[in-house]
Amino acid sequence: MLKGYKYRLHPTPAQTEFLVRTIGCARFVYNKLLEDRIKIHEEAKAGGGPKRKPPTPASYKPLFPFLCEADSLALANAKLHLDAAFAKFFAGTAGFPVFKSKRKSRASYTTNNQHGTIRIEAGKVRLPKVGFIRFTQHRDFDGEIRSATVSMTRTGKFFVSLLVEQDDEPWVPAGHTVGIDLGLEHFATMTNDALVTEKIANPRNLRQAEARLKRAQRALARKKPGSRNREKARLLLAKTHEQVRNRRHDFLHKLSRRIVDENQVVVVETLRPREMMQDRRLAKAIGDAGWGEFVRQLEYKCKFYGRTLIKADPWFASTQVCSACGENGGRKGLHIREWTCGACGAHHDRDVNASLNLLRLAEDIMSSGQGLPDELGQ
Ligand SMILES: [Zn+2]
Repeated sequence: MLKGYKYRLHPTPAQTEFLVRTIGCARFVYNKLLEDRIKIHEEAKAGGGPKRKPPTPASYKPLFPFLCEADSLALANAKLHLDAAFAKFFAGTAGFPVFKSKRKSRASYTTNNQHGTIRIEAGKVRLPKVGFIRFTQHRDFDGEIRSATVSMTRTGKFFVSLLVEQDDEPWVPAGHTVGIDLGLEHFATMTNDALVTEKIANPRNLRQAEARLKRAQRALARKKPGSRNREKARLLLAKTHEQVRNRRHDFLHKLSRRIVDENQVVVVETLRPREMMQDRRLAKAIGDAGWGEFVRQLEYKCKFYGRTLIKADPWFASTQVCSACGENGGRKGLHIREWTCGACGAHHDRDVNASLNLLRLAEDIMSSGQGLPDELGQ
């Protein structure tokens, strides 16, 4: 299933120049191909021997070197657009293709995503040959970007339409529920209504990249200001940062997608960042763990696929209550990984117990028939 998402672009002056130029080149190639095809057709009609092969966008480059500065995929797409116009003409569903005029035609070009050249990162969309352009992402999507069409309005505003390949809505048996506890030792501990518990560690390649990031940070601090080695170290640090960001993003996307694929009701605790951020070492770990981003992704994916997301109140005592008997045994410091209930004697793994309590919470809410609150009140 292909779906389009349109966003406003905010290019820099240099990027604006590139976009305008590529739009112009795409139009030029379209018109030139059309002109040559008409010529070839007329030559053949006049009996000039076998029909010449129509030219390709690349064959124009030696004659019109300015085409080399444009995104070559945009030129290839201009040819495809003309081919489609001719196909419609021959099928009798449209008139003969017309030349594109600078003033009257839609100013746009289309480019394709080859090996991730089109992607979204930190409020910017990356397009081939021009790089990262700031844009307003008013809505999120899930899936693989196939192509991008950049268009310019008469008033000089730019937009990008991303064509995204999306899976059909996954089917899950009604009522499948999962409770998710977020942690530092494991990224997440999940227990579902079949009472199957799964602990999700941060992936190895992410941990490795994070270790590299630490080394790169230390290396930069040791270099003399203004030296060439410092510049090199700075570049390496920036690259490593990007790698960590990409891997974390990838990990969070895959995990949130799987949870939504497998469950109809998802309950996750909302954290108390302010309280936890008081501990500086812990704060660093929380910032890196990407919990906020994970909950955000769960939120929009649940909305998109028609799942119910329950965000437990930050003060819901998921770690304090015994999941076996319901006794609230009071606060437990973060260093307490296991404990035994004073009331019933059940022995608990801290994270598994918390995820079980979150699961129970979801089951209580769903069976009480009090509607489906997005957020649970106190
Ligand atoms: Zn108990």
